[in-house]
Amino acid sequence: MIPFTYTRASSADEAASMAIRTGHKLLGGGTNLVDLMRKNVELPSCLVDVTALSDSIKETQEGGVMIGAAARNSAVAAHPLVRTRYPMLSRAILAGASAQIRNMATVAGNLMQRTRCIYFNDVAGSRCNKRSPGSGCDAVGGFNRYHAIIGAAPACIATHPSDMCVALAALDARIHVYNKNATRIIPIVDFHGFPADRPDLETVLEAGDVITSIEIPVSPFAARSAYRKVRDRASYAFALVSVAAGVTMRERTIDDIRVAFGGIAPKPWRAFRVEMALRGGPATQEAFDDAVEAELARAVPLAGNAFKIGLTKRTLSAVLTELTGDAR
Ligand code: SF4
Repeated sequence: MIPFTYTRASSADEAASMAIRTGHKLLGGGTNLVDLMRKNVELPSCLVDVTALSDSIKETQEGGVMIGAAARNSAVAAHPLVRTRYPMLSRAILAGASAQIRNMATVAGNLMQRTRCIYFNDVAGSRCNKRSPGSGCDAVGGFNRYHAIIGAAPACIATHPSDMCVALAALDARIHVYNKNATRIIPIVDFHGFPADRPDLETVLEAGDVITSIEIPVSPFAARSAYRKVRDRASYAFALVSVAAGVTMRERTIDDIRVAFGGIAPKPWRAFRVEMALRGGPATQEAFDDAVEAELARAVPLAGNAFKIGLTKRTLSAVLTELTGDAR
């Protein structure tokens, strides 16, 4: 770990004016950033603590919920508004990390989590385009059990590690970002990028941008929703595959549906093709199978992660069977 300075920002404006400086990094709970500093993956010259920004969790005028950037993961998961209206979000957060880490981690920090690819973390011995652009990617021909099967690029096949973001993708969350006296709103499906030729650029954030809140719109489908995570250990492990899904039914027909996958792509993967295939149709096993086939038609599995194709199909099928069971 190299020497660095530490300062606290008392407002989004102050944070933005500090964040634009080279070498300055915003610090939430530090549960990922400080780990990466210890491994010399991240080398900031100054940490700007933004935990004084809003941590409120409030209902919006439209009936959705607005979550302050500094809200702790555990507070969000336990909040009555989240638990009753967006149970998939509560479950997704509780599926991640340990209680101690959830008590520290902020929602803005969760959005900014970096991949847990082992080569990304191995500064001394591995080539990694994300950590060191142009150096190569040791995961492609190496141990890629945890890596992406869809949406990746030859330059990087890492997956996004967040559980929370998978639920946010299914919920059409909007990220409020402050910079230069103005706030802009970024749909979560546009917030994280595809690796293409620049896997080091992971979000659309620009210099001086500060996340101030996450807004979740009214989501009738979220009342009947679930989050299921499949992993190598029962706890403290990242997803091999995860599914966030919510449905509304009209008798035996799927009236509306949202689905997102985790653990299989470089970003929380909103499954638009699954939704298109199932919306307005019957909740049958055959329909579920056809829908996920359509989504995964573009998958490019590797030697170590081809099992994720079948695992994704089975996990989605189990979740949708659970959600539609009483209407079938
Ligand atoms: Fe680095 Fe991405 Fe390759 Fe992992 S998959 S070694 S993060 S470039």
